[in-house]
Amino acid sequence: MLVSERKPWDEILNSLAQDKNIFIIACGGCSEACQTGGEKGMQEIKEKLEEAGKKVVGSFLVDFACNKVLIAFKLRRYINDIYKADSILATSCGIGVQAIASMIDLPVHPADNTIYMGGFSGVWTGEERCLQCGDCKLDITGGICPYANCPKNLLNGACGGSDRGKCEVDPEKDCAWAKIYERLKETGKLENLKRINPPHNWNLMQPPASRKKSIFWALEFEEEEKEVVK
Ligand code: SF4
Ligand code: SF4
Repeated sequence: MLVSERKPWDEILNSLAQDKNIFIIACGGCSEACQTGGEKGMQEIKEKLEEAGKKVVGSFLVDFACNKVLIAFKLRRYINDIYKADSILATSCGIGVQAIASMIDLPVHPADNTIYMGGFSGVWTGEERCLQCGDCKLDITGGICPYANCPKNLLNGACGGSDRGKCEVDPEKDCAWAKIYERLKETGKLENLKRINPPHNWNLMQPPASRKKSIFWALEFEEEEKEVVK
């Protein structure tokens, strides 16, 4: 289970400032339980976008946005409407946004932040990873997580050690920022690299007090108790 909450609306609108036509993809898995995704979350986003003067050219709900097979089926079915859009707005955890972005050459904006709850966070088959940093940056990095993919957690471009697209910390791996550059180029968003991004607030990696009273925290706590009993 990955817990998500809606980003501030101003932040979402800013991320869509250059886009008029939007396609919405909502997750019906963990995000539906968190009330960010599902039919309800999708409808809420649609209404707010239209109020803000955007045109919603289509939308779909996918059972689990982290499952690329399910996404592929849906993308195929809705592809004509999707290519009427300037970008996609995804209501899902960071894994879902990354999975969608890896499958289509349009910018994909996250509508939600993924929140750290301190415990077990689910299993998925894809290579995408999310550190549940509490302030999703996938909007500026083309849907590739700079925290999960760069060992130095860099948010403003590659370090000096990147060598021919490989990471200096682990030369077996591609440099996260080389991949981000390629993705931004593919989606026409290279101007994102001119932005100076403020440092991440790593305090957001602590489970927020409000969430400690939620059912999600209770579930994590129950899991811990079961572990102790074993
Ligand atoms: S930026 Fe990365 S770690 Fe943070 S929520 Fe998004 S995918 Fe997860
Ligand atoms: S080479 Fe790239 S992925 Fe590796 S630490 Fe430097 S910026 Fe991060």
